[in-house]
Amino acid sequence: MTAARIDGKAIATALKLRIANDVGTFQLQHGRPPGLVVVLVGQDPASEVYVRAKAKQARATGLQSRQLVLPTETSEMRLVEIIESLNRDTSIDGILLQLPLPAHINPFRVLETIDPAKDVDGFHPYNVGRLAVGQPAIAPCTPLGVLHLIKHVVHALAGLDVLVIGRSNIVGKPLGTLLGDAGCTVTGAQLQTRNLSDICRRADIVVSAAGSPGLVRGDWVKPGAIVIDVGINRVDDGHGGYSLVGDVAFDEASERASHITPVPGGVGPMTIAYLLMNTMSAAWSRATLRGSPAGVNQFQLKTLGRLSGTARSS
Ligand code: NAD
Repeated sequence: MTAARIDGKAIATALKLRIANDVGTFQLQHGRPPGLVVVLVGQDPASEVYVRAKAKQARATGLQSRQLVLPTETSEMRLVEIIESLNRDTSIDGILLQLPLPAHINPFRVLETIDPAKDVDGFHPYNVGRLAVGQPAIAPCTPLGVLHLIKHVVHALAGLDVLVIGRSNIVGKPLGTLLGDAGCTVTGAQLQTRNLSDICRRADIVVSAAGSPGLVRGDWVKPGAIVIDVGINRVDDGHGGYSLVGDVAFDEASERASHITPVPGGVGPMTIAYLLMNTMSAAWSRATLRGSPAGVNQFQLKTLGRLSGTARSS
């Protein structure tokens, strides 16, 4: 079997077209585009690349996008004050605090100051808690993107066995919740997990978000399984540079999986598309429902309903 490649770039492009359409409607109705601000503290080179990519794609979708780059020595108290002023700014619908922060700043303390209605990363405890108890919430972008890719290839998720490798707050844990809510039997693995290869061989869907290149070998994959690779790892390319690879031994796994995501071009583009989606939804909810999380979810279901209608008919 040679797996079909799940083209995250193309799927994200289709989603962004829908979002751009919604942004145009919002602008007509409210006299302004939805606004996103990305806050970066310090000069982490990888973060600078991500922030630029997010800002560029936000503008291409018609959002008003601002980058706020603060010096490394910015104090925690000063950062909190800045976030509070962004909370009060009515032209801003989404606040994204780029992580990691410099070591002297407690990320949890600062994330808690973001207005939950503007928390487009879905990291505020209010949104984390609501997601955990099955209430409407702004969910984190990467798990939403992964779920979208899975739904692109399999419509009936209920009852499937899913292995999620990695249990970080930003990927593994919220993804496990979303998949469980969709009726999957979810196994969460982490560094301490024993017999990971055996667990993997039982899974209908494997999602790896470990940050460990080549972790998932071809013979770990159940024939016909869906493999989603969230990992982004820099490895030496042998020519003084580096290349980006995922957690999955792609060629080997492609021999057994039915569908597989590449790295790059799989989950990465979906993460950014869902940042734009969360911002658009937050703007709509703030403008019409006082920022209610129920509004965010209603809006997303409406947009995704139209998208899956298109996907099925094409
Ligand atoms: P993290 O370091 O916070 O968490 C990694 C998790 O994987 C931990 O729970 C750890 O126990 C587990 N783990 C690590 N090695 C393991 C192993 N050998 N076996 C089993 N479990 C193992 O990482 P994160 O922030 O969740 O990111 C994970 C990976 O996903 C990284 O490569 C990151 O760059 C990538 N990522 C990609 C996107 C995207 O948009 N594609 C978004 C976020 C993160």
